[in-house]
Amino acid sequence: MMPSLSTLNLYPWQLEALNELLRGGRVNALSMPTGSGKTLTALLYALRLGVDKIIFLTRTINEERAPWNEWRGLLRNGVAEGDVASLHGKSHFCPEELLDDDGDPIEDCAKCEFNADNFVNLGRMLSLVNDVLVAMGNIDPTVRGIREAYARAVALPEKACVYQYTKDAVKDAKLIIGPYPYLLLPQVSDAVINRIRDSGSILVIIDEAHNLDGLTDLMSVRVSRERLIETANALDELCHWVYCPTLKINHEEIIGALHAIAYDLGLMLDYWARGLEVGLTMHVNDKEAVRMILRSALNVLNPLVDDEMEDEVMKRIEGLKKVFGKKVYNDNRKLYQKIKKTHHAVSSILDYIDNPHEGWGIYIYREKTRLGIMLRPILAKEVYKWILEELYNLNAMFLLMSGTLPSPEYIEHVYGFKVDKIVAKNPRLGAIRVKIDGSLTSKFEKRNKEMYEKYGKRISKIVKKAKPSVILVVYPSYGFMRNVLPYLNVEDAEVFNEDETRELNTIINSAVKAVKEGRKVVLNAVAGGRFTEGIEVKDGERSLIKYIIIAGVPYPNPKDAVFQDMAKASGLEPRVLMREIGRIRTLQAIGRGVRGLKDNVTVWLLDERFDGPRGLAVKWGLVKPASGH
Ligand code: SF4
Repeated sequence: MMPSLSTLNLYPWQLEALNELLRGGRVNALSMPTGSGKTLTALLYALRLGVDKIIFLTRTINEERAPWNEWRGLLRNGVAEGDVASLHGKSHFCPEELLDDDGDPIEDCAKCEFNADNFVNLGRMLSLVNDVLVAMGNIDPTVRGIREAYARAVALPEKACVYQYTKDAVKDAKLIIGPYPYLLLPQVSDAVINRIRDSGSILVIIDEAHNLDGLTDLMSVRVSRERLIETANALDELCHWVYCPTLKINHEEIIGALHAIAYDLGLMLDYWARGLEVGLTMHVNDKEAVRMILRSALNVLNPLVDDEMEDEVMKRIEGLKKVFGKKVYNDNRKLYQKIKKTHHAVSSILDYIDNPHEGWGIYIYREKTRLGIMLRPILAKEVYKWILEELYNLNAMFLLMSGTLPSPEYIEHVYGFKVDKIVAKNPRLGAIRVKIDGSLTSKFEKRNKEMYEKYGKRISKIVKKAKPSVILVVYPSYGFMRNVLPYLNVEDAEVFNEDETRELNTIINSAVKAVKEGRKVVLNAVAGGRFTEGIEVKDGERSLIKYIIIAGVPYPNPKDAVFQDMAKASGLEPRVLMREIGRIRTLQAIGRGVRGLKDNVTVWLLDERFDGPRGLAVKWGLVKPASGH
């Protein structure tokens, strides 16, 4: 029996939410703003249900801290009992020399010299799982250098890696915290599912569930001119070390062919995608032409990656270790991995063209520096549909949570969860001042030079009057942002743009430093991009984002091919889908400024569609309808 909750000083809305959830069904959803105590409410719900296992899924490692911290509080108060396991991807444990250019590991743990098994005897191996579980309960999962931290905690040399033990510890933990892929991505989820199969009852909590759409990206594969050229360069470099002629690889011919194919692919895509904006996608109309080009790429790459050749190449690479040392050895493994990954992408796209399957699509995409072809699942539910089926067979229950919860239709048709009960609490946190300027609009038919200039001037004026703080400006798309930026006149502020390649943490640290030194910071963000999804600029518990400017309604572009296919595959009207995505993006961006009870933020809504008693600001609950209407 769970002890009394009176020691926890819960807010009234937490108690209400808890009671309502307990009257819910198998799949429930909880909508509460960030900072209002959602995580604690969810954990209490799990405890009240009395489930054997709680799986708490977060978008990134950074978000693991909240449930980990709350659980420790519950243990201290005697409200909960049981261990917590926090999971990190392998790449968080691997040292840099074992990660390829994409940040993916190149080493197999079983063969890895850092594997903790190499540092202990059999007896210690048996107790190590338990020691790691204790370490996971004591060490903040967001701490830098997780490998070293765990190794120290279990009295192993710092280079020893307990990654495999962290997965084994899942079996004995009551609460398992990990990023979405640990349960929802087919290649990764087995690690957890196979270890919880015998649990009597399971509750899966999906934190900030509006981010589930991002899983489709993790499943996508891409081929571009640049990728083919990089692959040719990788082969060139590799052959320098492993001496390809004796492997019967005519590398000069292959490299020449790859360059020629890259050139043809580039030419074709440049022509097809002449009007395609950065950040958008279009359909591939001439699949036959793509098939021909990719077929030649596959023919060229095939002999490099067949099993026999892989053995041969890896033997040669192995040989390099003795003569030239580990760096050369690892660098060559990375080069070979690049070739294999490109081969995989090319063959996956070709397989799809030969044998298209429902729920997936191929598209031409344009990024800032790349134009290519991508294969991806259209809706998030496509990514994990088999896993969900398995979890349902294991009698799992689900709780989807968000500060900006999508509509029940969206959750059902896009995420694949039929929600039995939605519990929504909207306590007033902090202070949001909403201001609307209806003289501007980002409507597609009204986008022109004058309008971009108007936006630029309006934003500059707001920045000029702002206090030293972070000003987050959210544009509907990359193209829109790029068109407005030349008209921004914000000399007294430090400016960061969404399409910069700098690490998010580096940008955040510079922003915090600038504000503390009394300067203003302008973050130019694209709706649904990494700034609005993941940025938190805080000094202690307080957000330093004091102004949020929504520069146009962040609707997806109805011409975008992925968007069109999402509407078709989900069965939702394009208008309904567009509104829902626009609403979530706007509320999510605003949520960046209110992270707790003491935050206050001024929100500027720069679009005529926000204005008026029937405007979006009223419909989306950002302002109350004026009395009399
Ligand atoms: S044992 Fe650790 S360092 Fe080695 S490959 Fe596995 S995760 Fe990476």
